[in-house]
Amino acid sequence: MLAPEKALRSILENVPILPPEPTALSDCAGRILAEDIRAREDLPPFDNSAMDGFAVITEECRGASQRTPVRLKVKKTLRAGSLAETELRPGEAIRIMTGAPLPGGADAVVMKEATSCEEPATVRILQAPELGEHIRRHGEDVGAGDLILTKGTRIRPYEIALLAAQGILRVRVVRRARVALLATGDELLEPSRPLTPGKIRNSNGFALAAALSRWNISCVYAGIVPDDPVLMRKALEKSISEADVLLVSGGVSAGDFDYTKTLLEALGLRTVFWKVAIKPGKPLLFGLWRGKPVFGLPGNPVAAMVCLEEFVRPALEKMQGFSPAYPSYHLRGRLENDYPKDKLRQQYLFCEVSEGPKGFQVRLIRPQGSAMLGMACKANALALGPIGVGLLRRSTEISFRWLK
Ligand code: AMP
Ligand code: MG
Repeated sequence: MLAPEKALRSILENVPILPPEPTALSDCAGRILAEDIRAREDLPPFDNSAMDGFAVITEECRGASQRTPVRLKVKKTLRAGSLAETELRPGEAIRIMTGAPLPGGADAVVMKEATSCEEPATVRILQAPELGEHIRRHGEDVGAGDLILTKGTRIRPYEIALLAAQGILRVRVVRRARVALLATGDELLEPSRPLTPGKIRNSNGFALAAALSRWNISCVYAGIVPDDPVLMRKALEKSISEADVLLVSGGVSAGDFDYTKTLLEALGLRTVFWKVAIKPGKPLLFGLWRGKPVFGLPGNPVAAMVCLEEFVRPALEKMQGFSPAYPSYHLRGRLENDYPKDKLRQQYLFCEVSEGPKGFQVRLIRPQGSAMLGMACKANALALGPIGVGLLRRSTEISFRWLK
């Protein structure tokens, strides 16, 4: 059986990066820029004050201190958004607010806290300013024509702010993946329906769609299709042709009515791998249909979620232009209990992690199983049991990650 690292590597080698699309700035956060951006304008666009205080001529304030204040005549008040319009002359100060344009002649701003005003028309400067102090110079941050953002940049709110400050309201970013989601199984009922004998509710539909929505990915939910080759074939073909990625839950194991793989292959799927040495999630299927990634996820809901997080999410990130940040198990804790793990498979173990005096303590939940949703909801972390290790022993170290 394929090792999970190899499975992930071949997924990342095979998934395409989606094309760019011009996008409104309001929809760009968290996405990848697909073009270089040059500044249209200087930032700041004019010299202005970085403080609420007084615009002064430094020469006039030389030697000013608490004990030897310098008295200046307050000529006027400049608010942010106004025009400077005045020239400062020796013996004068101008009361200035943060962001207001610096008046001509001024070469420093003394912050309000370093002044005192006994009468409105006079200010006492209590601290000699440095030349240029508290002045934000025209173009000191960005010059028109500068390369301000490069292709491949992840757009955070900082980048949004820079683009907004430049009046750039539309940029090309990598398109978001559209994912089609199909649940298979004769036994499935939508969760809104009353339970009838032999049936269970389709929890995967809601769960997978919820995870995708948290990752900002739009999902087309194609509903439940029974284990019927004719109906399934139709549903599979329709779903994949309408999306960039197809996720099929169920029907991917070795049962007599598990048609997912054979039908997808009959439709032209090139299977890249089927079955990975993991638990839960062994029957995971990955292939390409006309270049589009297709994942056959195990029907068992805990296994489906683990496969989604471990294998599908990195693929979606790569498609959307990211360097995929697959779940990393970089935290370490000490096991509080023994656990007999499957030696031949990498096991994702649901656990309760708490912080003790000597670091993290990891309690593996027992029993655990790929269909046990109640069990999964008790866990706050997932620990990694490597291939080759059988019994996990109490008080040894184990890697884990938080379940978010
Ligand atoms: P399968 O992968 O189709 O063999 O299904 C494995 C197990 O997962 C069976 O017990 C199914 O009833 C269950 N299962 C399949 N699909 C779903 C689903 N969408 N929601 C919840 N359980 C499912
Ligand atoms: Mg099934």
